[in-house]
Amino acid sequence: MSRHKLETEVKLDALAFGAHADDVELACSGTIIKLGALGYKTGVITLTRAEMATRGSAKIRAQEFAQSAEIMGLASHKMLDMPDGWIEVTRENKLKIIEEIRIYQPRIVFAPYWVSRHPDHEKTSHLVREAAYLSGLKKLKTGQEPYRPYRVIYYQTRFEFKPSFIVDISDFHAQKMKSILSYKSQFHHKDKTELGEDETLLSRPEFLDRIITRDKQYGTYIGVKYGEPFLVQEAIKIHDPVDFFDAEYLERIP
Ligand SMILES: [Zn+2]
Repeated sequence: MSRHKLETEVKLDALAFGAHADDVELACSGTIIKLGALGYKTGVITLTRAEMATRGSAKIRAQEFAQSAEIMGLASHKMLDMPDGWIEVTRENKLKIIEEIRIYQPRIVFAPYWVSRHPDHEKTSHLVREAAYLSGLKKLKTGQEPYRPYRVIYYQTRFEFKPSFIVDISDFHAQKMKSILSYKSQFHHKDKTELGEDETLLSRPEFLDRIITRDKQYGTYIGVKYGEPFLVQEAIKIHDPVDFFDAEYLERIP
């Protein structure tokens, strides 16, 4: 009870959920960093401790996560204890996320796109969407105030989607790469025997190139250097299309 009371003081504007430490960084830390620079309070919660990662231990991942949180300028970061590789959409897990949403009361919530290569990402997507809705129900009792975020926004993992919008992260791309490189065990660790590490998709040098190329690709779509794509299920309401597109047009005039 007192835990909830203490933590409600850290209300967030934007809260990003990932299955594993580094999911959010790879997909959308540029946007998270930008939101922080705009003065918003941001946070990241991972559902697992990433203990199944081929490289690095849970302890190392937690240290790297904390380091990355600092680089991203997060007001809050947390790891939940769902089993890595075995996240399931259950009542118990939904309640865990509902509790977090009610603690931080974020205006917007980020979740992985519901189509992904890793089953944990897909399950995280469904869990967050359902929890964000259920969290607003008065009769769902957790000893906290009911709260529903304005919108669930999906970020891209392995598979592409046609974005609902793209955020210009050009000024924050260097910082994004720094947050990704916090995960030394994933990218740089040389001593393979100590941790029994094998080469993975992430540890190959071309992996980071792929991230950079993707950010450039989405930047191109909106006429900037780097961009991050997002998807929302609902239509986006625009009050004044002339003003909205005019502002965008003026921005592009050199
Ligand atoms: Zn992941």
